[in-house]
Amino acid sequence: MARRRMIYEGKAKILYEGPEPDTLIQYFKDDATAFNAEKHGVIDGKGVLNNRLSEHFMTGLNAIGVPTHFIKRLNMREQLVRMVEIIPLEVVVRNMAAGSMSKRLGIKEGTALPRPIIEFYLKDDALGDPLVTEEHIIAFNWATQQDIDDMIALALRVNDFMTGLMYGVGIRLVDFKIEIGRIFDGDFQRLIVADEISPDSCRLWDIESGQKLDKDVFRRDLGDLADAYTEVARRLGVLPRNGATVPGPKLVQ
Ligand code: UDP
Repeated sequence: MARRRMIYEGKAKILYEGPEPDTLIQYFKDDATAFNAEKHGVIDGKGVLNNRLSEHFMTGLNAIGVPTHFIKRLNMREQLVRMVEIIPLEVVVRNMAAGSMSKRLGIKEGTALPRPIIEFYLKDDALGDPLVTEEHIIAFNWATQQDIDDMIALALRVNDFMTGLMYGVGIRLVDFKIEIGRIFDGDFQRLIVADEISPDSCRLWDIESGQKLDKDVFRRDLGDLADAYTEVARRLGVLPRNGATVPGPKLVQ
């Protein structure tokens, strides 16, 4: 088979040309980065877990009418997705203060927010993804006012879905980041959830113990990242109880 054409390589994923027009193959790597790629590691099996988890979340979102780019999982590390024009913003939704918000505003990590708060960050590694306002977004043409309204509506629906899903397995969704893309139907444009939703881009705390089950385990050297992601996948029923991704041999009694 001819080698596939690579379209883009990011820190944790590679995009290849897809088999049909307007499709891409999204490959999940084992690489983990933090602090704008100043910290880097390779976590055995992370890509396999994130491929499964993102499939699980996006399939659920599609099922409740929140449009996403996800079409189907192809194998352990790859999924078929719709090609979109990515809006160059990271959309963050926060239910509790943590991370950069706690630092910036001096609010203790874990403080419940009075309502979900949405923030936009410009996707620009050289600038360290700065926080931007709606005024900036419109003035510099990164998106229109209509896009912003649609992005907020999408982000809140994703938040409700993900919060409920996680609550059901004893996990608090503290915050998360999504990326949103445009698709075109003739002259008509629609916004859909793109990229990935995984513990790489969420803060997930065990409700009982407060244990972190997300990329902060890597950022803050709190233990084994693959173990944390495996726990999330196991609770959601994405992995069988023993943690294996494929059924093992059956013991003959
Ligand atoms: N996030 C992300 N990619 C980024 C920045 C943030 O996925 O480039 C996620 C992060 O995992 C967290 C949320 O967005 O769930 C809010 O992150 P925050 O602004 O607190 O920044 P951080 O503390 O991660 O630097």
